Amino acid sequence: MRRRDEGKWRTVRCRTAGCVIGCALSILFVVARTPIAAAKLYVVTTTPDLAAIARDVGGDKVDVESLAVGTQDPHFVDPKPSFILKLNRADLYVKRGLELEIGWAPVLEKGARNANVLPGGRAYVDASAGIAPLEVPSGPVSRALGDVHPYGNPHYQLDPANAKLIGRNIVDGLSRVDEADRGYFEARLAAFAGRVDEKLAGWMHVLAPYRGAKVVTYHKSWDYFAARFGFDIIGTMEPKPGVPPSPAHLAQLITLMQAEHCKLVLKEPFYPENLTRVVAEKTGAAVVTLPDAPGGAPATDDYFALMDYDVRQVAAALAAASR
Ligand SMILES: [Zn+2]
Repeated sequence: MRRRDEGKWRTVRCRTAGCVIGCALSILFVVARTPIAAAKLYVVTTTPDLAAIARDVGGDKVDVESLAVGTQDPHFVDPKPSFILKLNRADLYVKRGLELEIGWAPVLEKGARNANVLPGGRAYVDASAGIAPLEVPSGPVSRALGDVHPYGNPHYQLDPANAKLIGRNIVDGLSRVDEADRGYFEARLAAFAGRVDEKLAGWMHVLAPYRGAKVVTYHKSWDYFAARFGFDIIGTMEPKPGVPPSPAHLAQLITLMQAEHCKLVLKEPFYPENLTRVVAEKTGAAVVTLPDAPGGAPATDDYFALMDYDVRQVAAALAAASR
């Protein structure tokens, strides 16, 4: 593990009034080293859901930063030079994987000059390891299919059961770079997983009355959420992933929603309101803006607050629609 607070030699030049030859007195002194125990692992994640889970399982052994913020579309993040510096200093780097970040993370990884954060490096964590991905394409993937991810749908963080796997993958990475604290991380993971199980039972209970409800989503981001809680996604605003809605597609979608009595459209904060509102007006459906990561709405700062918020919003909209 690399420490960011290495002690430094510092040189001070001191000119005395009586120094006729103009020489300087150099004094070297050592800045006190930061005690090893106080240094934290610097964990960088691509998205805030991973950061929230890393904080939960890393406890006071980690400082965690996400490159993307919760209101941002995680497919399209501006790869700022400051991100390269963060990756250069990272003790651990955690990605959502399944090519979610294919458009912006590789350039940062290559620029970071930190071999450990490259795929296969000891500080690299693909949080999707072990997850059963939905919608893995059966044939060859081409641009004609839109932004289809060849390894399956990367929005798996919205199934709480997958949050436990994300935590497992992060703890494996933390223990790799800080073997001495493995027991601490494992204990925190056990507590995190226990809390997920407990909260998930509550979320299932809240949404149980709406099992089978028909839903339209803007992007294919809510498929894992729908699979866990028993919703039926009948269509998407995007005709193909990453492709903006066309008038012809929306006309078909409106007809389908009317025929299926679909009363709910889910969209993330970064997708546009205008077309969603048109669809809602024509069908009598409610539009609910749901964050897909912590920080995407007020008071959604950790994974549990995010899921609490999303579950509450969906339950309230479907309760109103059934009255
Ligand atoms: Zn996507």
